Amino acid sequence: LPLLAIVGAPNAGKSTLYNRLVRTELSARSFRPRALVAPTAGTTRDRMEGESEWLGYRFRVVDTGGIEHFQDKPVSLAARSRWHAPPACPQVLLLVDAKAGAGAAEERLASLLRRLRPVHDPSAGAVLLAANKCDSREARHGMHELWSLGLGEPRLLSALHGVGSAELLDDVVAAMQRREAESTGDAVGKVAVVGRPNVGKSSLLNALLGQERMVVNPVAGTTRDSVACEYEWRGEKLLLIDTAGIRRQAAGGEEREELDRAAVAAARVAISQCHVALLLLDAYQGLTRADLAIAGLVTEQQKSCVIVANKADRLDAAARRAFSDSVRERMPWLDYAPVLHASALTGAGVDEALDTAASALAWRRTKVPKRRLNELFARAQLLRPLPVVRGARLKMQYATQHATESPTFVFRMNRQAEMHPSVVRWVERTLRSHWPFDATPLRLVFKADP
Ligand code: GDP
Repeated sequence: LPLLAIVGAPNAGKSTLYNRLVRTELSARSFRPRALVAPTAGTTRDRMEGESEWLGYRFRVVDTGGIEHFQDKPVSLAARSRWHAPPACPQVLLLVDAKAGAGAAEERLASLLRRLRPVHDPSAGAVLLAANKCDSREARHGMHELWSLGLGEPRLLSALHGVGSAELLDDVVAAMQRREAESTGDAVGKVAVVGRPNVGKSSLLNALLGQERMVVNPVAGTTRDSVACEYEWRGEKLLLIDTAGIRRQAAGGEEREELDRAAVAAARVAISQCHVALLLLDAYQGLTRADLAIAGLVTEQQKSCVIVANKADRLDAAARRAFSDSVRERMPWLDYAPVLHASALTGAGVDEALDTAASALAWRRTKVPKRRLNELFARAQLLRPLPVVRGARLKMQYATQHATESPTFVFRMNRQAEMHPSVVRWVERTLRSHWPFDATPLRLVFKADP
């Protein structure tokens, strides 16, 4: 897991923040006792390490103890190396007591940490600065002095009262994800072709790539069961991840089940690596359990999905419609994925499938303007006020979209309450009526300040 290292002076409030992050309320996982790492040589204080989760993103948190013991900490190791990418370099959060301001110790630390910020884009750096104990007005005044540390904008925080912790976590997670994406070269859109044996994956890839698979070049991280090849589609570079390499045998009974299992396992890997899954189905043969299993993996991993109902050349219009209906009925959780009829054999519909995948890739990268998003929901709530819960009307106070790999919208609520599924559906419909997010699942999070 990626690592968040909290550093700062002993009284800056690191443990309070640490406890808030590792505590149940913020993390969806249940409380786990703090892990006390045995003191290693040179440290005089135990290091606290635990796990946290924010918006489904899991990470480790380490409270590094006081600045005076900084020498042995992962942070200083990272700062001394020139290598800024995770996991070698953790995300660092420098916590300063806004009332006390920045002293000599903080300045020394900041000068070390400044090296972790890439010059071209300081906001993308591995260091975030938070001004803690901002619970009074004069404390907030002190906060402005912290700009002089040269670590960018100080985030306002009261670790004790939880004020600002949601925004801080948003920033922390966004920074970690951005650095992760940069280090894994996630800029190229990845499309996985998945499906159980004999649905036509090889045929589809051949239709796409021509008879010879000339561009195939194995990419690091791919397994025996899946290969990735670069592919250019309408001027854009894509990575096609292909699981068709699994041995196929003419077998029945148990052996077929064995093959299916292998296909599902390969699909799991391919899906985890992709942004968009082209889920191939055999529309002539109909749906099987393995199809459902693979479809489930796509949704579970929040991937965009284009369902390709293959072998359309063997079906008439009525049969195609019936197959679409059965897909909707048996894979209701994939309702965001369009069903396209295609024939890998004749090539019909193949371009359209790839166009839809490309469009999904573009939507996954789309960040909607914050102002329009908020205007939209302010207006929408006037037309359709949220329900009253325990005597007070629920309100979405403001909405943000997160810089996460799959589109995530967070609605800050006036109070914490379970949202009725019909409200969630309404929010999703409202969003999609303005920004369709083709073939892409949306994560909607409704949260009051922790
Ligand atoms: P894979 O195991 O998913 O890679 O499936 P293959 O691409 O090897 O295809 C399995 C069988 O289905 C082969 O006999 C193909 O010729 C056949 N097939 C694939 N696509 C189509 C199609 O669109 N129409 C028809 N009629 N047959 C197809």
